[in-house]
Amino acid sequence: MKKNALDMSFDELKFYMESVGEKSFRAGQVFKSLHRGLDFSEMTDIPKTLRERLDGEFAAQGVKIIKSLKSVDGTEKFLFALADGNVVESVLMQYKYGATLCVSTQVGCRMNCAFCASGLNGLVRNMSSGEILGEVIAANRYAGGDLADKRKIINIVLMGSGEPLDNYDQTVKFIKTVSCKEGINVSVRNISLSTCGLVPKMYDLARENLAVNLTVSLHSPFDEERKRIMPVAKTYSIREILDACAYYFDKTGRRYIFEYVLISGENDSARHAEALIKLLKGRPCHVNLIRLNEVKERGLKGGTEKDAYRFMGTLNDGGISATLRRKMGEDINGACGQLRRRYLEEQPETGIE
Ligand code: SAH
Repeated sequence: MKKNALDMSFDELKFYMESVGEKSFRAGQVFKSLHRGLDFSEMTDIPKTLRERLDGEFAAQGVKIIKSLKSVDGTEKFLFALADGNVVESVLMQYKYGATLCVSTQVGCRMNCAFCASGLNGLVRNMSSGEILGEVIAANRYAGGDLADKRKIINIVLMGSGEPLDNYDQTVKFIKTVSCKEGINVSVRNISLSTCGLVPKMYDLARENLAVNLTVSLHSPFDEERKRIMPVAKTYSIREILDACAYYFDKTGRRYIFEYVLISGENDSARHAEALIKLLKGRPCHVNLIRLNEVKERGLKGGTEKDAYRFMGTLNDGGISATLRRKMGEDINGACGQLRRRYLEEQPETGIE
């Protein structure tokens, strides 16, 4: 299989050009073209011999859009094929201030949270930095975007399938490459990384000095109940997670966010809201409430919109900054891992897994 050209950082591409006797400015040209989403045959600003050399050794774009679905609310979901035939998904959401792309970082996931579709079949494999980057570049080109001020993708959230900190090195390389000024150049301030709370890796991330927005999936203020919803809670306690968040804030000066999926009868009572207030009061954080997108295999139920607003009101009254995330893309299998799952169900004969 050819190597994925998008796996190269700008410095690695420069090194490659030098190693094959090309002028180093070619690295800049090729890096820009790759980040525009071009194939080598479309790179008419470089000599044909170089195009052919690159084409012989690399695939220009590591992922290919094989399906796109548009929701009535404008949300668009992409299914990508990777070079080895695996599929992953990302979601493009339109907001007033521009588009946000939610990317996957692993094929499947081994965290197996009780509400989530991504973990149903476990982890298949990690994605490489170039494959994650490929999602951004393909979606940006598809949406008619280019580089710099012509970019269509303004924000990136690492909240698709997979646990980004379980694929730490490739995730960090992705963040560095996607924010490299020679390429598509999405500012790290516009990148949010969501984790289920892999505490040691949260410390590592704080020390990278990348200052991405840190989001932690909390889903319960009680360790014992959290273990039922998220198996990873058996390894790391809420106290340890809060300490790691405080360290992240010390290092980066960035307020952190807790995600809280409201599951009817599990974590959405007044008792939960009161405990959350106690836990988070005075911390530089925000709570993002999410109404459950029901995944049929999981059997959990979401509450009503009214219940969600009541929960939010209790938090706000208790001095906690909290908002309810708009439900988007419900008609197109919006929740994490749902579209890939449907796709695999529909195509059992492909033997992708
Ligand atoms: N592994 C990371 C990132 C992927 S999940 C993490 O755990 O944070 C990102 C978020 O997607 C989770 O916090 C959860 O809030 C949301 N999510 C996953 N499945 C969902 C569902 N069925 N309904 C609503 N939100 C869901």
